[in-house]
Amino acid sequence: MMRRKITIVGAGATGATAAHILAARDYADVVLTDIKEGLPQGKALDLNQMGPVLGFEPQITGTNSYEETAGSDVVVITADAWSGPGWSEPASRVDLLGRLSARHWAPQAHSVFRAPDAWLKWALYETEPLARFARGAAALLGDAAHAMLPFLAQGAAMAIEDAAVAAQCLARMPDDPVAAWESYSAIRRSRTRKVQRLAARNGKRYHRTGASAMLRNTGMRLLGGERLLQNYDWLYDWRPPAGLSIT
Ligand SMILES: Cc1cc2nc3c(=O)[nH]c(=O)nc-3n(C[C@H](O)[C@H](O)[C@H](O)COP(=O)(O)OP(=O)(O)OC[C@H]3O[C@@H](n4cnc5c(N)ncnc54)[C@H](O)[C@@H]3O)c2cc1C
Repeated sequence: MMRRKITIVGAGATGATAAHILAARDYADVVLTDIKEGLPQGKALDLNQMGPVLGFEPQITGTNSYEETAGSDVVVITADAWSGPGWSEPASRVDLLGRLSARHWAPQAHSVFRAPDAWLKWALYETEPLARFARGAAALLGDAAHAMLPFLAQGAAMAIEDAAVAAQCLARMPDDPVAAWESYSAIRRSRTRKVQRLAARNGKRYHRTGASAMLRNTGMRLLGGERLLQNYDWLYDWRPPAGLSIT
């Protein structure tokens, strides 16, 4: 039987994790493609070198073109609608310092702001929850499916969960990728929506000022660390539905 080939578009956190899982389980040859030169090649090299150590024989190709993707069965889109690639860009030092007025910031803080030679800016975007993550044989994973604000530190965590669930769904229905993606979408949508909403709420909570901030701090103090953490059990103790074993 001819070996299957899966192309993953975007060699970011989701793409590389999906490639790792697919290769480790020997589901198919994997082509990892990205617009950033060297990125997919580097990730492919790392994964291929990991194979002999962890006991699998990967066939991962990293590329910036689509030629190597010929003959693929499934394409996974992991990028979202950015005006440029990625979410991290070099920032202008002058522009940044211009926004941090001496009236609002202590001189000690200003000497810290002036210390680094280079700055990066990270854009914070969220997307409206999507009604579905999949259509036909194509699906969205990670930020492309559910970009969220970082105030719950869950963007990459959700992307990794997506990749693991997607791999399991495809493994259970190897002859019906459309049904596998539908199943993936159904499993992931409500959870990621809940996490997106909580991240946005946390953003507002963290940025309160004045009396509202004092109330927040008192409430958190009264709640105590342990109970505060228990509020997140649903997040950190999540397991995929029975029948989908993630190992
Ligand atoms: C400030 C900040 C703090 C964060 N902190 C956390 C945290 O603590 N914990 C956490 O879990 N998450 C955190 N996140 C979120 C996390 O970084 C993202 O959710 C995660 O990187 C998403 O992974 P991804 O693979 O979906 O997208 P990305 O990592 O952005 O990868 C997408 C890839 O697709 C490529 N690409 C774009 N367009 C194309 C194209 N047309 N063709 C091919 N390739 C393309 C891009 O170059 C990129 O390499 C944070 C995010 C920010 C901004």
